Amino acid sequence: MKSQVWQHLSDSDVEKYLANEVSEEEALRMNVHMSKCEKCAEKVRTMRRLNFLFNQWTAKAHAELLYQYQIVGALNQAAELHPDLKDRLHNWLKHWQGKAEAALRVVLKVPGEATQIIFKGWEAMVKPEPHLKFDYAVVGMRPRGVRGVTKIDKTDKTKVRAEGIFSVEVSVNEINNEVIVQIEGIIPDQKAPLILLIPDAKEQEPLLSQPERESGTNYYVARFQNVPAGRYTLVFEPME
Ligand SMILES: [Zn+2]
Repeated sequence: MKSQVWQHLSDSDVEKYLANEVSEEEALRMNVHMSKCEKCAEKVRTMRRLNFLFNQWTAKAHAELLYQYQIVGALNQAAELHPDLKDRLHNWLKHWQGKAEAALRVVLKVPGEATQIIFKGWEAMVKPEPHLKFDYAVVGMRPRGVRGVTKIDKTDKTKVRAEGIFSVEVSVNEINNEVIVQIEGIIPDQKAPLILLIPDAKEQEPLLSQPERESGTNYYVARFQNVPAGRYTLVFEPME
């Protein structure tokens, strides 16, 4: 039998549980599991809080909620994959309901689409009063393309920048499938924010990076290498 007490709750288990679409037997199994597993209990609490967003049943609200589920799921998964950063990831989940300091969409080599970084339209994933705001794209040779989107060609990488309590540049190198985040201006007592690259493809694991200082510089850099082609959400850990 599939439903064992020690089995973690899947995303669809949680959705069914919150929608009261489980049998009494299944609900009991889940309740017993949650009494022993803080991770699943927290997942249910977080999802329940997020469900309040369903007050507005618009397509936009629905899409936003899906993205937020995506971040919550990725944070839980990343905490499992990176036990050393578990506390920070759980703090992110708990205090910010999975909302980010900043969010971007990265489209990498999707057939029929330009590789690009999109920085507008993801406010729903961002915490109130963010310290960091991506508001312009850096184009290598000559400006072109739509505002909010830079397109790649042979001469330039796709880049966007944010100025805030520190400055951040995110770039995609299509040649070697690399996503690079460079942070400048972190003061000595400050931690560089964790950065999550979350694939839309459910079978792919989220990629987590803790930016490291490049020796001899003031820069902190996070590199995601050999990133498979696809669509991603790039989110920054909220700062206190
Ligand atoms: Zn569990």
